Amino acid sequence: MRTTIGWQADPATRALRRTHLRRRDLRPDDVAVRVDYCGVCFSDLHALRAHKSDTDGALVPGHEFTGTVSEVGGAVTGFAPGDPVAVGNIVDSCGTCPMCQAGQENFCRGFPTLTYGGIDRRDGATTLGGYSREYVVRDTFVHHLPAGLDAAGAAPLLCAGVTVWEPLRALGVGPGSTVAVAGLGGLGHLAVKLAAALGATTTVISRTPGKAEEAYGLGADGFVVSTDAAQMEAVRDRFDVVIDTVSAPHDLTPYLRTVAMDGTLSHLGHLGPVTVETTDLLIGRKRLSSAGSGGRPSTADLLRFCAEHGITADIELLPSSQVNTALERLERNDVRYRFVLDMSDLD
Ligand SMILES: [Zn+2]
Ligand SMILES: [Zn+2]
Repeated sequence: MRTTIGWQADPATRALRRTHLRRRDLRPDDVAVRVDYCGVCFSDLHALRAHKSDTDGALVPGHEFTGTVSEVGGAVTGFAPGDPVAVGNIVDSCGTCPMCQAGQENFCRGFPTLTYGGIDRRDGATTLGGYSREYVVRDTFVHHLPAGLDAAGAAPLLCAGVTVWEPLRALGVGPGSTVAVAGLGGLGHLAVKLAAALGATTTVISRTPGKAEEAYGLGADGFVVSTDAAQMEAVRDRFDVVIDTVSAPHDLTPYLRTVAMDGTLSHLGHLGPVTVETTDLLIGRKRLSSAGSGGRPSTADLLRFCAEHGITADIELLPSSQVNTALERLERNDVRYRFVLDMSDLD
């Protein structure tokens, strides 16, 4: 085993504290990555809340990071020490099921191995995440970070970015499409940038009138206040695709009404049961869909697209020693739009 330093959940307080972590020795197809920047995702908060230290083992969050290859296993040909790379929220999958065969490892029938809190397919160890200075990962789940992309701003592309990218692509968004993005947080702000860069006419739907200027700054063409009935009525049956990134449980009805005939509401921000009045789908043959994370091909596709269009997340960069502050502020939605931790203070 090798050791590194990272931020692990304290069993008593659930706060993260700096500690030594163990990483496996490199297998022939492993890559060791010096983690430079790691995004702070809403899932990290959920994981900390749900974590039971007596049964779940150690918890080190972090599943969207960029870094530099420090060492490669003997069978690795695609990476060399010094390469800038990126890793998302999946680090392995079965490789043989129809989902994996289709390049949708995120939907692996054997369940993908998660970057943290997952079970390694070969040795059964619990995976520890990217809030650490080094990560050891199978080469096929490492992505080259294209030149020209800021490594800190690119980190959130690996979870938040690909989570909105896959549905935008799968739903055929492009020039001529009309897209609405509900919620302007980590997912939402990237959805706006990506939809606009794909050529769609993009509207932000938000509870907060004060966010209009920010929305236009991100590339939106329109802004609708969700609590203003007249404004919502004015966009009735308007959008081919509505990307719903609102993270709290909420009524889908007002959003479904803004979907155009044969259009789709992609419900991404919240996991769990929802209630739908089916006449809201019937009228206009509307579709309700969801998605999460991304397969390897679409992650690579996203990174290429972002490099071409100069897209990264708008971030607030903090030294990793402020990770607990970042999590507290994220819980209050006090961030524009994603925290990224600079891991260099772990040396
Ligand atoms: Zn995430
Ligand atoms: Zn599979």
